[in-house]
Amino acid sequence: MENTNAQGAHYSFFRGVERNFDKAAKYTRYETGILQQIKVCNSVYKMKFPVRVGNDIEVIEAYRVQHSHHKLPCKGGIRYSMDVNQDEVMALAALMTYKCAIVNVPFGGAKGGIKIDPKRYTNFQLENITRRYASELVKKNFIGPGIDVPAPDYGTGAREMSWIVDTYASLKPGEVDAMACITGKPVTQGGVRGRTEATGLGVFYGVREVCNTADDMKKLGLPVGVEGKRVIVQGLGNVGYHAAKFFYDNGSIIVGIAEYEGGIYCEKGIDIYKLVEHRKATGSILDFPGATNIKNSADTLEQPCDILIPAALENVINASNATRIQAKIIGEGANGPLSPEADEILNKKGVIIVPDMYLNAGGVTVSYFEWLKNLSHVRFGRLDKRFSENWNTSILKTVEDLTGKRVTDIERVQLLHGPDEVDLVYSGLEDTMIGSYHEIREAMLSLDGTVDMRTAAFTLAINKIGVSYEELGIFP
Ligand code: GLU
Repeated sequence: MENTNAQGAHYSFFRGVERNFDKAAKYTRYETGILQQIKVCNSVYKMKFPVRVGNDIEVIEAYRVQHSHHKLPCKGGIRYSMDVNQDEVMALAALMTYKCAIVNVPFGGAKGGIKIDPKRYTNFQLENITRRYASELVKKNFIGPGIDVPAPDYGTGAREMSWIVDTYASLKPGEVDAMACITGKPVTQGGVRGRTEATGLGVFYGVREVCNTADDMKKLGLPVGVEGKRVIVQGLGNVGYHAAKFFYDNGSIIVGIAEYEGGIYCEKGIDIYKLVEHRKATGSILDFPGATNIKNSADTLEQPCDILIPAALENVINASNATRIQAKIIGEGANGPLSPEADEILNKKGVIIVPDMYLNAGGVTVSYFEWLKNLSHVRFGRLDKRFSENWNTSILKTVEDLTGKRVTDIERVQLLHGPDEVDLVYSGLEDTMIGSYHEIREAMLSLDGTVDMRTAAFTLAINKIGVSYEELGIFP
């Protein structure tokens, strides 16, 4: 059941989550039974199924874990990786419950995984594996718009979500809400605009809010704002790339990038767009003009910077390297990138650690918007865009008539613009990330002053889930 980290040490990710939960539970008022019920995974489905790969038949191991049913449907991604195991899927499912509670997304937590290396298979084989997994979920009633709604995660994306929705819809003919059985779909298959970049954008909005909080920046001896801050990002996948891009676009200096082939560092800053072009052309981030190569990728995390964004996998900062981390702010783009030991070491050092269950919740927040879109069967903005534009036109005309002055053409375009779907999704996400950050910060300040942000976020989540259980009562 256990995992092995990059340094070869064994650890239980789920026990790590439980440890963080227990630390926070002390600050809540719930009786032991309720706390125990919140903590456990309600349903763990481990499956094995055969798939034909070339001339052979391979037996594939896969999971779906529903951590909490206090709100339905359950929600959480599906990952494809050779590191998938029951302990990992359980931990990730639990984090989903807390994540949804923190950002006020009305779902219970879940997670799925298939233990495969997707690079070893052709697209056709991957499609077979994915469809077979989806049909296993249907057979056991582990998927559905009101039951459990998966999404992309490490190693999966819009393509896999398309295969799953198609499998689901063909096994449930006539189900009018079938589209809402999964999120992260391509826009052409019922997806929502803005979902692809949502987690990275949420990471940016969250860290920007931390950096805009003057009191906290004063404690770190840093100026307010993200502009000019030096950022290192680990992982140029969907989350890391978009986070890096939004920091870059908003004036931060990307000084380091770490990927599996190694890392690069450049004090003057890396042009993230040029880096992506360079990687496309050479197959690697290494040898990027003006930057220094770092042979051992993990060493990149230890370079000087203000903000460090681990956006790849869990347990990359642990007891063996935590003391060498120089960042003053760590934004957990990935799930569980810090071990509990690393958390303790870095908290003692005064580093602000913005926890995963808040910071990477942008993905599930926009998944929620996608689910709502699918259930309402209409694109956001379809009914009100033109109305807003007409309304804005008449207000502007009135102002111009009254003042006798005219705005410029560029101002006119900006002022009259009615919201498109992507505008509404971005604004809903921005509001969620800002609002939840202040909820966590207030919880932190109301506790005894020594409590870190993760513990405060956990107490907030436990309180919200606890209220649900209390109000629902216990079914005989
Ligand atoms: N896999 C993402 C996560 O870990 C997204 C989950 C979702 O959208 O349901 O948060």
